Formats: sequence, structure tokens, C-alpha cells
Amino acid sequence: MRISVVVPCFNEADGIDRLAEVLAPVLEALGGGYEVILVDDGSSDGTLDRLRAICAERAGFRYLALSRNFGKEGAMLAGLTEAKGEAVAIMDADLQHPPALLGPMVELLDAGYEQVVARRDRQGDPRFRTFVSRLYYRFVNGLMDVDLEDGAGDFRVLDRRALDALLSLGESNRFSKGLFAWIGFRTTYLDYRNEARYAGTSKWSTTQLLNYGLDSVVSFNYKPLRLAIHVGAAITAVAVVYGLWVVVDAIIAGNSVPGYVTLICAITGLGGLQMVMLGVIGEYLGRIYVEVKHRPNFLVRERSEDDGPVT
Ligand code: UDP
Ligand code: MG
Repeated sequence: MRISVVVPCFNEADGIDRLAEVLAPVLEALGGGYEVILVDDGSSDGTLDRLRAICAERAGFRYLALSRNFGKEGAMLAGLTEAKGEAVAIMDADLQHPPALLGPMVELLDAGYEQVVARRDRQGDPRFRTFVSRLYYRFVNGLMDVDLEDGAGDFRVLDRRALDALLSLGESNRFSKGLFAWIGFRTTYLDYRNEARYAGTSKWSTTQLLNYGLDSVVSFNYKPLRLAIHVGAAITAVAVVYGLWVVVDAIIAGNSVPGYVTLICAITGLGGLQMVMLGVIGEYLGRIYVEVKHRPNFLVRERSEDDGPVT
């Protein structure tokens, strides 16, 4: 089998038929056999019924239904684990990732690349969002050991070696953008025009985006802890210099100012800073907690090969 296509679906009932319709001829044209693994991530809008119908009528399509909503990372991993193709593609269910791009992407794979990444432009994004994204990438790339590419998401094709490498990473906190970059392999990018969603709404709220940004920094290395040490050292140095200056000033000029404002600022400022640092440590502690429990990233409740629900 030439290629497996993994599609995580969460409440995509209105768009998933269209995706199947567009995707099937593209994959036929590639030749060499294909499978499409539709992963229902605990949808509540009848997506699973649509998936059952699609898989019943189309050869090459099968589905997995997770036992609840595990998030896109879990759904993707479920699909990737099941993939049997020599190459595997990951794409969204909302047609924001144009299936027509798969042809050129697979060609690049044949040309010897092991990871082909589709990179979207920022066409149609609000100016502010673009600005924040740019800032984010600059900041994150400064903190991380791997480089994240602006506009490169989960839409990509991996060959078997790259996929096996990805699956060999056993962590529970899966920040896949980082993991894709971390495994390395010969990678190339293919640009495409950003498209609007075909149906439904994006599952990202602003808070979630913010948390995702935090995740990316913390889930990849411990540089924030290092940063905490540096900031702490810098502030201690400032305090020492300021203390000396106050003493000298009092001895030479006889000034002994009450310094009420300084005191309050120092107490509140340092208090806040300490809370932030504690938060950073807490983030890592929480991650270790999740990691040592060794829980699976997803649970499958039903799959197309089955007659019904399984345990
Ligand atoms: N998705 C998922 N589980 C979730 C959230 C999203 O499987 O908990 C899927 C969703 O169905 C879609 C893809 O992940 O196929 C991307 O989601 P979305 O379009 O909401 O993200 P955006 O394109 O806005 O980044
Ligand atoms: Mg989308």
C-alpha cells in the first residue's frame, strides 16, 4: 500500500462527506493503493454516523472511533498507529488542507525526501493574529532546540522511517509540531494558499491558543527553568547594588529616605515574580505527573472492521 491518510475528525459531520468525495479521486490518481483512516475524536454531532456511511460505501476508507474526545493530538496518534502504508499523510477534515496538494507532496517523497510539509501562507488572517504569530515563532524558536516553521502545521506526508521514528517517541505530552521537527529526517516544504473552513467552526478558542503557546515552550525543554535562574540572579544583583547605594548614600550624604514606595514595589514585584517561577516549576511537575502515569493517549471504542463496540 502506497499511502495511508489519517484524518482526525471532531464534530465535522457537515464537511466530512465532501472531504471523502474530493480525496478519493486524488488518491486513486496516485496509484499503488491507499487507505484513508478517519478518526472520530468523540464527536457529538453525528460525525460517527457519517464515517460509518462513508466507509460502507467507499473501498479504502476505514474509521476508528475514540471512546471520548482526546484532542487532535490523540486522534492523530490513533490514526498514525493504525496506518499500514509505506507513507502516511495527515490532514484536517475541514478541507483547509487541499487534498490536491497530496500529488506534489508524494512526488517530493519519491524524490528522496522523508518528510514533506505543507506550509500555508497567512492570507486572510487578521493582521493582529499574523503579528502575534510572527512574534510567537521568534520567541519559541529562541527557546527551543528545534526550529518551528511559521505556517507549517500537521498537514504533511511522512515516509515509513520518519513515521516509525515519530511513533517511537513514547511521551504523553505530545506537542506534535515540535515532535515533527525533533525527529529531523530530510524535510522539505511546499507552500499553499490558506483556505477557509468548508463547514463548521474552528475548535480553537483564544484561551486554548494561549495555552498551546505555553505548552510549546514548556513541553520541549527546560530552558524556562534556566531562565528563572538567570532572572533570579539578575534581580539579586540589582538588590545588592541598590542596598549598597542606600548605605553609602546614608553615610556620605546623611540621607535616610523612608522609601515606602520602593518597599511596596519590591514586595509586590518580587511576590509576583516568585509566583510565576513557581508556576514554571509547577508546569514541569504536572508534566512529570502525567508522564509517570503512563496512560494511553487515546482509547478506541469502535472500528470499521468490527461488528460493533469493543472494549
Ligand atoms: N480535531 C480533533 N479533535 C479535537 C479538535 C480538533 O480531531 O479535539 C480535528 C478537527 O476535526 C480538524 C482538525 O483537528 O480536522 C483541525 O481542527 P480545527 O479546524 O478546529 O483547527 P484549525 O484549522 O482552526 O487550526
Ligand atoms: Mg481547520
